[in-house]
Amino acid sequence: MRIARVFGRLSLLVDGGAVDVETASHGRFPSDPDDVMSRWDELSDWAAGYRGGEVVPYAPADVGAPLLRPAQVFGIGLNYRDHAAESRVAVPTAPAVFTKFRTCLTGPYDTVRLPSAAVDWEVELVVVVGRRAENVAEEHAWSHVAGVTVGQDLSERAVQMTGPVPQFSLGKSFPGFGPIGPAIVSWDELSDPDDLELACSVDGEVLQRGRTRDMVFSVPELVARISAVCPLLPGDIIFTGTPPGVGMARTPPRFLSGGTTLVSTIEGVGELRNPMVAT
Ligand code: ZN
Repeated sequence: MRIARVFGRLSLLVDGGAVDVETASHGRFPSDPDDVMSRWDELSDWAAGYRGGEVVPYAPADVGAPLLRPAQVFGIGLNYRDHAAESRVAVPTAPAVFTKFRTCLTGPYDTVRLPSAAVDWEVELVVVVGRRAENVAEEHAWSHVAGVTVGQDLSERAVQMTGPVPQFSLGKSFPGFGPIGPAIVSWDELSDPDDLELACSVDGEVLQRGRTRDMVFSVPELVARISAVCPLLPGDIIFTGTPPGVGMARTPPRFLSGGTTLVSTIEGVGELRNPMVAT
């Protein structure tokens, strides 16, 4: 199952376009994707049995962020060995967890306004929680996950590095710094949800390319370790970390500039295309 926010409404993506879920379900499900996450199992059952109905074609401009009001947004730092190495930091022995405040979330094709000349790219697999998870063991972790989507953990490095300790949460939360989408893809649609290629490019130049199997802490490990502290709630999202190739680690450092388009892809999941504008 692939669901998205199309024309501002919860939609099931099918061949040829989108099915409006509230209309097709005769009002059984709400029109806002944020409001359906606590009923993920029920939605999955309905979608599996759904046939027919009006399929409406749509354009990228019609697609918004699949979720805008998760109760919690987690980010994981330094979760790929080669990214830890390029950052000149030891490979973590426990996940480095921060938040992106949810006001940073934006759509898969939305324009991002750059607040400075020090904004960096980080393509990431984003996990969407489908069932409450509290002290969940690794072997049961995927069953608490609704699906995955593509994310960019855009990061303003000057703010991030200001102060006595790094300000990950603030430097990564400017408006527009959390493009996600275009769809939430249930993980049973993926041949191997623990091994997906992810990449990002600017105007056709590939900047990052990696595989999620190279994570230091896999998706199940992250769900287990986070849920041992914070109960994970339906609709919560986890940015699971970025592979090597970020701009900050380059010599000289390199950042995003206005007039370019950042394209972020994950195999079998989808693609974000975000134009950048300077302020
Ligand atoms: Zn990140």
